Amino acid sequence: MPDRFKSSDSLLHPITVNPQQKRLWVPHRSRHVPACAWSHFDGPTVPEWHGMAHQKGFRIVSRIRDRFHLKLECKACGAHTAVKLSALRGAQPRCGGCATTRQRHSADGAKLTFLRRDHSYHKYAFFHAPCGHEVRRQFGFIKRVEKGEVNVKCRMCLIEREQAEARAHGWERVGPDPEAKANYRMYRHRCGHFQRIARVNMRNGQCDCANCGESWSSKPSVIYLARIRLASEGLDVVKFGYSANPKRRFRHQLGLSKAAKVTFLRLLQMPTGHAACAAEKRANADLVRRFPGHVVPVDIYGNHINVVSEIYAPALLPEINKLMDQIEAQARISS
Ligand SMILES: [Zn+2]
Ligand SMILES: [Zn+2]
Ligand SMILES: [Zn+2]
Repeated sequence: MPDRFKSSDSLLHPITVNPQQKRLWVPHRSRHVPACAWSHFDGPTVPEWHGMAHQKGFRIVSRIRDRFHLKLECKACGAHTAVKLSALRGAQPRCGGCATTRQRHSADGAKLTFLRRDHSYHKYAFFHAPCGHEVRRQFGFIKRVEKGEVNVKCRMCLIEREQAEARAHGWERVGPDPEAKANYRMYRHRCGHFQRIARVNMRNGQCDCANCGESWSSKPSVIYLARIRLASEGLDVVKFGYSANPKRRFRHQLGLSKAAKVTFLRLLQMPTGHAACAAEKRANADLVRRFPGHVVPVDIYGNHINVVSEIYAPALLPEINKLMDQIEAQARISS
């Protein structure tokens, strides 16, 4: 493959010299030269030049601008590129048309659609990402995406995800952290108070408002009944507890390995974390008192589940379900 396909593709710039002619690719550093300056230059073309151009994959269209420049036509794609005579002699001229095609193919390989170059900075262009957003990326970055070295992380998508996380807990994502910490964001609570919070804490709902004092204990919570199976260890137990967000936080809170299979058998919405905590503690105390033989000793599961109590044998499921029926009925009365 000739060099002109490999060299830095972003360094040519398209201009229109004459609307009746093909656009002309000029060196990036000459992009501020007025278009009219690239018009025809009177003078002969030497047979030697034609031979060199032919060898390098081009045809000479004419002399342009001044006695140092030629307009070359690419034999592969037909695009016109302005080239210095000295460059034709001493180097492999680049074709602006082939460079653009290469950029587009590179974008396709990265599952992006090339939209337009960024004329404020020549190394960047705008692309349509698969998520539907427009992203601005360096050409070099697109090549790395194509090779699978990096992902196109869409900033708009990330912001939308963070907004949803905040809304789920009564906050609004306002913007980046004013103290510029990468893992923090600025949020506004429903009471109007602004606060910096780590994104991971917002995602997990661990975000107490310093102004109104609203905390997890006054927010809705869930009493859950989950079955945990770890086939490799012959472990099959049930866990009965509460959490503001069991589905998202369960594995993390319990330090479960990926191999553990978790099935939520029942989820009971509670009006507040406080109510959930009180009801769950009462029910667990009742279970331990009435069915001590079904409480699984911690040395059986302790290496796999990071809690010290509230783990039962599956045989106790009907009894736990009865208690959950009672809690549900109580919660309905008091709400
Ligand atoms: Zn070409
Ligand atoms: Zn997106
Ligand atoms: Zn507040």
